[in-house]
Amino acid sequence: MSKFLSRRFSSLVPYTPGEQPRDMEYVKLNTNESPFEPSPKVIEAVGSDEVKKLNLYPDPTGKALTQKLAETYGVEEENVFISNGSDDILNFSFMAFCDKDKGAAFPEISYGFYEVYADLYGVDSKKIPLKEDFSINISDYFGAKRTVVIANPNAPTGLALSLNEVEEIVKANADDVVIIDEAYVDFGAESAVPLTKKYNNLIVVMTYSKSRSLAGGRLGFAIAHKDLISDLNTIKYSTNPYNINRLTMAAGIASLEDADYYKACNKNTAEVREYTKAELEKRGFVLTDSKANFLFAKNDKIGGENYYLSLKSKGVLVRHFKNDKIKDYVRITIGTKEQMDILLSKTDEILSEV
Ligand SMILES: *Cc1c(COP(=O)(O)O)cnc(C)c1O
Repeated sequence: MSKFLSRRFSSLVPYTPGEQPRDMEYVKLNTNESPFEPSPKVIEAVGSDEVKKLNLYPDPTGKALTQKLAETYGVEEENVFISNGSDDILNFSFMAFCDKDKGAAFPEISYGFYEVYADLYGVDSKKIPLKEDFSINISDYFGAKRTVVIANPNAPTGLALSLNEVEEIVKANADDVVIIDEAYVDFGAESAVPLTKKYNNLIVVMTYSKSRSLAGGRLGFAIAHKDLISDLNTIKYSTNPYNINRLTMAAGIASLEDADYYKACNKNTAEVREYTKAELEKRGFVLTDSKANFLFAKNDKIGGENYYLSLKSKGVLVRHFKNDKIKDYVRITIGTKEQMDILLSKTDEILSEV
């Protein structure tokens, strides 16, 4: 830290992205990326015609992409906000809907960035414990008097709330914003988008990073009542109006034009998830009922950190969290069937060594 850093950031602990070691080729199952390339239509859309226009700023309103998203999700353009990854939207939301008088509430075990944003803006955060089985007790969020943020499915547990449960939370916080982070919704959970027509306090946040094979492109979007979208635009136009570059914008549009491709990829991921889960269970693992593109697994014979380290030494990366409540577990991204078979065979080696 330099002596120039503002004192308000002196104790800020930034988010730690999943590791990307370069010392060897790993089977990378640690950051919940898609193992599949973007659709051929996306690759074509980002071709030289678009590159030739890079001397020009992109459309700050992202009209073409916004229109396409509105069509896809059955809402109006005024209900759609697009951004540089969904982290950007979460950032804007904490900036817009929290302050020293309005705290945030989110599950104690969830996406680590929520706490970072709260700290960044000096927002008091209430971290609500999960139940013993890692599920969310929805009534803990009723009348929170805070901005509520819930990942659904939750990370890294993979457990999903039903649409009815989400509606209960939204209804019970009518005077506060409820943000439902649906980064993993396309792998088998119910989206709360339909509720945005009924409730003016709900923001549904989604990303292209997982179910649309575009983590490297950085594209996210939110769907909400037009007044909330307008608030997000106030923040965007006060920070970085051109926050989505031309190439990513073109990729985002082309993705929506090849919905069948992504549907097939996501279906494959859900099937490979169930296959891997069953195989790990055969080997004595305990897993949650994940609806996401990852598994949350433990095997007390190996231990969480040891399993992570042993896999790494054998060329397979998974994610281990040091938090005491989940330190026995690892989070395993679902890759291709071939990648998961490598994970399983390395797991067999590890089990034979303990
Ligand atoms: C991956 C992830 C995000 C961030 O996605 P980007 O669009 O890549 O910024 C947000 N929320 C959750 C729960 C995630 O897992």
